[in-house]
Amino acid sequence: MTREELTDLFYNAPTEELTARAGEVCRRVHGPEVLLRGLVEYSNYCPCGCLYCGIRGGNSRVNRYRLTDGEVLASVDAGYERGLRTFVLQGGEDRKFDTDRIARLIGMIKERTKNEAAVTLSCGMKSREEFRTLRDAGGDRYLLRFETSDPELHRYLRDGKTLAERLENLEWIREAGFQRGSGYMTGLPGETDEIRLNNILLCRDLELDMVGIGPFIPHPDTPLGGAEQQGLDHALRGTALLRLALPEAHIPATTAAGSLEPDGREQMIRGGANVLMPNLTGVEYKKDYLLYPGKICLDESGVQCIGCLSMRVKTVDRRLSFARGDAPRLVGAAV
Ligand code: SF4
Repeated sequence: MTREELTDLFYNAPTEELTARAGEVCRRVHGPEVLLRGLVEYSNYCPCGCLYCGIRGGNSRVNRYRLTDGEVLASVDAGYERGLRTFVLQGGEDRKFDTDRIARLIGMIKERTKNEAAVTLSCGMKSREEFRTLRDAGGDRYLLRFETSDPELHRYLRDGKTLAERLENLEWIREAGFQRGSGYMTGLPGETDEIRLNNILLCRDLELDMVGIGPFIPHPDTPLGGAEQQGLDHALRGTALLRLALPEAHIPATTAAGSLEPDGREQMIRGGANVLMPNLTGVEYKKDYLLYPGKICLDESGVQCIGCLSMRVKTVDRRLSFARGDAPRLVGAAV
C-alpha cells in the first residue's frame, strides 16, 4: 500500500471499516491462527529514565529483581513442555545482565529445546558488535520499539536519547541478520495526528517483520503519571493500518490493550493482530515488571494463561498456534 493510500485511510476511513479490511487481510495471509510467544522478563533493573516507564531507573518504589539463569531456563522449560516454540527474553537495560550473559542463555535455550525454539530478544539498545554477538549466539529475532517517530517528542520522552540513535540500532539489527521488530506507543502526551500517521509510515518504510503498538497508560510513579489516558481507538486504528501496510508482519495483540479494556486483545485480533504473548515469568516477579499500572494476568502462570487465551481467540473465530512463526519471507529458507 502506498504512502498516499495509507494517508488517505488514516484521515478518512471509519475505524469499523479499517478493522474489517485489516481483519480480512490478516486471515488471507496468516489464516485463522494466532501465534503464541512465551515471554520471560529477566530483569527490571534499568538505568534509563524514559518518562513513561514504570521501571525507569528513577523510580525508587520498584522492587528490583534479576532472574538467575536457572529461573530463566525453568520458565522456558515450562513453556516448551506446553508446546511453545518461541521465547522472548525481555528486560531493562541492565548492565549486570550483559550481552555475554544473554548470549550464553541463548545457547542454553537452543540446547535444551533441541534447536526447535526461536529466541526473540527485547534487551534494549546495544552496540553494533553486541548485536552481532547475540545473532552469532543463535538469537533469531530482535525487538526494539522506536516509541515515537517525532524526533523532539522522542528526545523528551526518552530522557535525551535521540530517535536517530534508535534508528541506527534498528539498522544494526537488520545488518546482523535478525528478524526485526519495532513499533510504538500511542496516545502519548504531545502526540498529534501527524505524528500518529508518521509512526505508521515509518514502520512501513522499515519493512518490519514484527511490529507492535501499545496504548500509553500513565504510571503514577513516573513524571507522566498525571497525563490524560486516551482510549483504545488510536491503537486499533494503528494496528489495522499496519496490517494493511505490512500484510506479512507479525503483529501482537498487546497486553497493554488487554489492560486498558477487558476485550482489548480480542479487538486487536479482530482488526489485524496475529500474535499473543503469555508471560512465563515467575508469578513472584511479574508484579514488579510494571511498565504501566493495571497490567493483567499477574496472578496466573503463563502456562495457565494459554487456556484463557485459547477461549478468548475463539470468540473472534481464531485458534492458537504453537508454531515458531518465523517471518514469512524466511519460511523455506534457513533462519
Ligand atoms: S522503557 Fe526500557 S529503556 Fe526506558 S526506562 Fe523503561 S525499561 Fe528502561
